[in-house]
Amino acid sequence: MFSFRGEQALQFGLLHLITLAGSTGMLTCLVLAVACVARWPVYVSAQTVDETALLIIDVQDCFLPNGSLAVTDGDQVIPVINRIRQDFEQDFSLVVLSQDWHCPDHVSFASQHEGGTPYSLVNLTYNSEGRLCREDSIVSSDQHGVRCSPQKSDSDMITVTQTLWPDHCIKNVTSGPTSAAFSDSLKRKDSDVVIRKGFNCDIDSYSAFYDNGGFRQTELNSVLKQHNVGRVVVTGLALDYCVYYTSLDAHKLGYKVITVTDAARGVAPDSTSAALSDMEANGIELVKSESLRAALDTSSNKATSSWDRHCAVILLSAMVLIHTTNLP
Ligand SMILES: [Zn+2]
Repeated sequence: MFSFRGEQALQFGLLHLITLAGSTGMLTCLVLAVACVARWPVYVSAQTVDETALLIIDVQDCFLPNGSLAVTDGDQVIPVINRIRQDFEQDFSLVVLSQDWHCPDHVSFASQHEGGTPYSLVNLTYNSEGRLCREDSIVSSDQHGVRCSPQKSDSDMITVTQTLWPDHCIKNVTSGPTSAAFSDSLKRKDSDVVIRKGFNCDIDSYSAFYDNGGFRQTELNSVLKQHNVGRVVVTGLALDYCVYYTSLDAHKLGYKVITVTDAARGVAPDSTSAALSDMEANGIELVKSESLRAALDTSSNKATSSWDRHCAVILLSAMVLIHTTNLP
């Protein structure tokens, strides 16, 4: 919140104020000390959620120009994300890249459904264990799911509406339109954590936290917890699907979420504006990258730490003052 010099100047000012002689100094000291003590529980709780992670969602060849599921202007997010990494390096204790990682016959592909066309919808049924119920309309259905008993009651079944997509982001494919590789233009570091999603052939996963049925988690939540992350900054592709669902799930899991709108692009205008409205309605902070500094500072837990450094000076001064004036 404050630069180092700014903090020093503020502390010096406070010290000067507190060491005023007589009752004015004592009164000032008392008021500030009470404020500091009242702030203490906030400080303690903030210590456990102090860190911020940058989430870079699915910036992969398959979603970029020449990719099989290219998001319009998807490549324009890359310089913005690279700049965020560089400008806010000190703010991020962790950078996570999610990677869409599908089987060649993934159930979300239109090519796997009889008469399936990209962007149409199908209903997929899952049993209570989250296993896909085998359907004849699924090509090579013997490789997909399990036979679900027709006698089972509907309450044991879960229906997931699936948008059918062109084949995309196929695991271990590193060139061509279905390549799952991260863009070469995306700046990366060895310390980055990669979270794969959509690797279960029988269910899609828009969110980097859960599959679309909410049956299974990826390791993202536990990785964030291990790194003491309390806040995530979400960027990447696509704004109306994977960025949207990742942001919503992060919020549901209790993270403070900032989604950077110019570091993301949507598949379609209507679904993008609907996703933006829904994120806002759910308390997700939407910012442009130029306002990210202010957003990080406004809600920063580090601002709490900064305040408590001042508190340390105030309380120390109070002790010195009490000692030197021989008060009980
Ligand atoms: Zn996918």
